[in-house]
Amino acid sequence: MLVHGPTSRAEIAARRQLSRPTLSRIARQLVDDGLLAEGGTELRSTTGRPSELLHVHGAARHFFGVKLTGDHLYAVVTDLTAEVVASLDTPLRSAAVAEVVGQIAEAASTLRAAFPDLTAAGVTLAGTVRSGVVHGSAYLHWSGVPLAGLVAEATGLPTAVDNDVQALTAAEHWFGAGAGLRSLVLITIGVGIGCGLVLNGELVEGAHGTVGRAAHLVVDQSGPVCDLGHRGCAASYLLNESIVRALGATDYADAVARAQAGDPAARRVFGDAGFALGIIIGTVANLVDPRKVLLTGDGLPLYELAADRVRDGIAKSYEPDPAQLDLGVRAFDFGEWARSGAALAIRAALTGRTVSLR
Ligand SMILES: [Zn+2]
Repeated sequence: MLVHGPTSRAEIAARRQLSRPTLSRIARQLVDDGLLAEGGTELRSTTGRPSELLHVHGAARHFFGVKLTGDHLYAVVTDLTAEVVASLDTPLRSAAVAEVVGQIAEAASTLRAAFPDLTAAGVTLAGTVRSGVVHGSAYLHWSGVPLAGLVAEATGLPTAVDNDVQALTAAEHWFGAGAGLRSLVLITIGVGIGCGLVLNGELVEGAHGTVGRAAHLVVDQSGPVCDLGHRGCAASYLLNESIVRALGATDYADAVARAQAGDPAARRVFGDAGFALGIIIGTVANLVDPRKVLLTGDGLPLYELAADRVRDGIAKSYEPDPAQLDLGVRAFDFGEWARSGAALAIRAALTGRTVSLR
C-alpha cells in the first residue's frame, strides 16, 4: 500500500493471495495500531459494488534520513509515506568518522525537538556499502567503517546505511516516478556516475555492494583518458571534472555558462558528454529492457544543453525501437537524496534490516 496507494481489501487479498479472514485480521491489527486508516470508496469493476479503501496513515510514524557528501550533511524527517516534513543541512566540520557521526546525532537531536517519535534512521553516501559497513567511500576516504552501528549508538535509532544511488533507486521505486514498476533504471550524472537497477520488482543488490557500474563503458577508443587510465570511456567525457578539464574552465558552473553563451568549444565538449551519456543509457537499456529510465544528478545541465546528442548516443547503442525507451528526468536536489535515506529507513524498518543497539 505504501507503493500502490489506497487499495481495497479485495485487491490486496488477490494480490497477496490471502484469504479474506486472514486479511481482515491483519488489516484490523494495522488499523488498531494506527498505521492504516479506512476511508473513501471505489466502485469495484468486477461487481459494480462500492468497495471501501484502506490507506496508509502517514503521520503514524516518522523517519530520519541523511545524505552525506564529501563536505556536507543533508537531513530530513519524513512520515511513513516518505513525505518530507522537516529538513536541515550543514557543512561537515571534517571527514573524520567520529566527527561526522557526531554531526548526524546533532541533526537527529535538532529534528527530534519537533518529531520526538522517530522510528528509524537511514544514512546514504557514495561508496561501497555492505550490511551497514562502509567499505569504500571516495569522497570521505573511509574504509571498513561500521557506520550503521555507530549511528545507532549515537542516536539510539535502529539504523540502515546504503550506497546513495541504490537508496535513491529504491526510493523512486517505492515512492517516486517508478512506483510499483517491475523494472526501472536510474542513472545519475555529475561529480560521479551511478546506475541503479530494479528487476522483477526488486532492487538489484549484487553480491559485493558494487552493482551498476556503467561509468567506464568505452565510447570512442581515440577519446580522452579517464582517471583509471581508460581511453575514451564514458567517464572521460561525462564527469563534471572531465568537462571542466577539457575546457580549462574554473569549475562546472563556468563550463555550463560558456556552453549556454554559445561558445563553440563548450558546445562541442557538452555535446560529446551528451553522446557518452546516450551510450550508457542505450547499453544499460539493452541489458535490462526497463519499463522506465530515470536520469538525475548534479550534472543535469548537461542534458539540458545536449539532449539531441544524448538521443544520438541512444540511437547508436540501443538496439530495439528507441520509441519504446521511456526516459524521464528527475530534477536534482540534495533534499531528494536525503529523503531517499528516510525511504531506506522505512524499507529497512519494515523488513527488519536495520542495525540496532543490543
Ligand atoms: Zn574510465
